[in-house]
Amino acid sequence: MWLLELSKVLAVVGTLGAWSALSERDAPLPSADGSGRSLKNSEPSAAREASEFADLPMAAHPPRVVDYTLRATLDPVVHTLHGEGSITWKNVASQPVRELWMHLYLNAFKNQSSVFMRAPVGGFRGSALPREWGTIDVRKLTWVDGAARFELAPGIQLHRPDDLDETDALIPLPRPVAAGETITLEVEWDDKLPSIVERTGFDGSFHMVAQWFPKLAKLEEDGTFAHFPFHHLGEFYADYGQYDVTLDVPEGYVIGATGTATETRVANGRRIERHVQDDVHDFAWTAWDKFETRRETIDGVACTILYPHGYESHAERELAAIRFGLPHFGRNYGKYPYPLLTIVHPPASAPEAGGMEYPTLITTGGESYIPNGFNLIELVTLHEFGHQYFYGLLASHETQWPFLDEGLNSYAEARAMAEWKGAGSLVDLFGLTIGDAEGNAGRAGRYVHDDRIAQPAYAFGSGSSYGSLVYSRTATLLETLRRVYGDKPMRRAMAAYTRKFRFQHPAPQDLLDTFQRELGHEAGEVLRTALFDKGWVDFRVEAIGSYAQREPAGIFDREGKRSTSAPEPAVPGRYSGWVLVQRRGTLRLPVDIELVAEDGTKTRVAWDGSADSLRVPYEGSSPLRAAVIDPESRALLDQNPENNFATVAGTNGGGAPRTLERATYWAELLMGVLAP
Ligand SMILES: [Zn+2]
Repeated sequence: MWLLELSKVLAVVGTLGAWSALSERDAPLPSADGSGRSLKNSEPSAAREASEFADLPMAAHPPRVVDYTLRATLDPVVHTLHGEGSITWKNVASQPVRELWMHLYLNAFKNQSSVFMRAPVGGFRGSALPREWGTIDVRKLTWVDGAARFELAPGIQLHRPDDLDETDALIPLPRPVAAGETITLEVEWDDKLPSIVERTGFDGSFHMVAQWFPKLAKLEEDGTFAHFPFHHLGEFYADYGQYDVTLDVPEGYVIGATGTATETRVANGRRIERHVQDDVHDFAWTAWDKFETRRETIDGVACTILYPHGYESHAERELAAIRFGLPHFGRNYGKYPYPLLTIVHPPASAPEAGGMEYPTLITTGGESYIPNGFNLIELVTLHEFGHQYFYGLLASHETQWPFLDEGLNSYAEARAMAEWKGAGSLVDLFGLTIGDAEGNAGRAGRYVHDDRIAQPAYAFGSGSSYGSLVYSRTATLLETLRRVYGDKPMRRAMAAYTRKFRFQHPAPQDLLDTFQRELGHEAGEVLRTALFDKGWVDFRVEAIGSYAQREPAGIFDREGKRSTSAPEPAVPGRYSGWVLVQRRGTLRLPVDIELVAEDGTKTRVAWDGSADSLRVPYEGSSPLRAAVIDPESRALLDQNPENNFATVAGTNGGGAPRTLERATYWAELLMGVLAP
């Protein structure tokens, strides 16, 4: 999900205006990775790439745990949907289960007693009440067990005794499901879609249909279900399987959906499309009678853009982003394995449907007042496409560890934008350039002392803290590791993580282990401390001095005689000096310290950053004028880059930090208007 409320874009544009004045292939490969940890749940075949990361293993398919064969009929006038079908589910745990848990997400919009509606979150999207409430009612849930049919619907426990939320349903079973056993459930349900509220709903005849069917919670290896109510800031977590969904809408509606359309027909005034997709963990769709359509095959993937009339230029910008993004993400994080990608640009009146990810389907957004050079449309498109990896193909528990999705994805988004657009990847307007990574850095320092990055979505004190830490700080932390420890090792660490854990639902320890191995112990410690212990760092120049060298004056005893030397005149062309630099905070990052002499001579000293402070001596033929810590801004996580620079009293400063100051200023400015 994208954190920006598009309404804020206008403010940014106004501010800026005032200021203006590889080819890859699939081939079988054994699943063992030889690194001591076996791939959990992986099938014997794996995809191999003819790329620089070809040695890194990657599963070709996830374990197939749950299949949904559904049929849904939409009434776009009253915004209801009738669904029916079957769910085939395998107990992949090593012990029997005696109950099932089911997500009924649409009930988050049923009333103000839902966990979603009760959340005291400000500063993030979607805080308004829906104009129309939404519901999901399970009419029938039948376990077809051989000749027996167990009616489970009457026993569904919609809420807990002490909580009226109805999004997390418990279904007691009449008999245990044995380890390894597969069961089939017949299901029938009715949805009332809410007016577009967040990620889902209707706006006029536009329908964004997400979190819309009864969905089984993910079963963990220990036999417990990862079930949870739908939290305002929390997202999703589910098992993989096949979705075979037949959609029935009025003729004249254009459908965009997860999975390839295997059948399409029009009969009796209705349009019926069957969409089938393997190896995904969710299914979302949209239907609108006003979509314009553009298609293009990019990197072997059939891409479709659905957009409102008048948004042709947006569609072109989104396509351009995907033309860059598909091969870029494929090279870095493993080949995109699906045959299609649908990009939905929602109508302007439904911005809440924008900036969201589902398997093989993403929603973007952006208004006509976003000029070329302010790359928000491109950025949102690459962000949502990036989720195909972190949300879709890795599928970490997003509610428990949102940074593993949004944070890593924000880093990947910024890298993609930087490689595509260069220094002005966020803004390149009127001679002003700001990178996406710098934008993240500007937002990353807030709330660092308030919340941990690595915690559940619902544990954050506010939506603003969640946005700043989960998105911006995680991205800035990873960008810091890249700049400090090198682009190539960092690319390999991300490549190793995204390939090894494709379809594996990785947890934070998997990321930490990978980074320890690929980037070394110190980098691993920085990552761990920053994620789990509110780790922070502020380098600063505490003091600086420079003086001309002189012969020492005073009383000296030499060869049995005492003599007094008067102060000597300065030795011409010989100067000494010193800089005291400090590392405050708990992150031990190596940095360079640059000493700048009056004559412009620069000398670099590398500091491992392990101690709290360092006194750097200076000697040269010109007086010391200034010192800069981290002149290349590698430690992007630095809490206050403005104190990284100091001049010797009486000198006229150095030129080096000019760009830094400007970048910081603009990052701060942007932070004010773009802050989540
Ligand atoms: Zn996101």
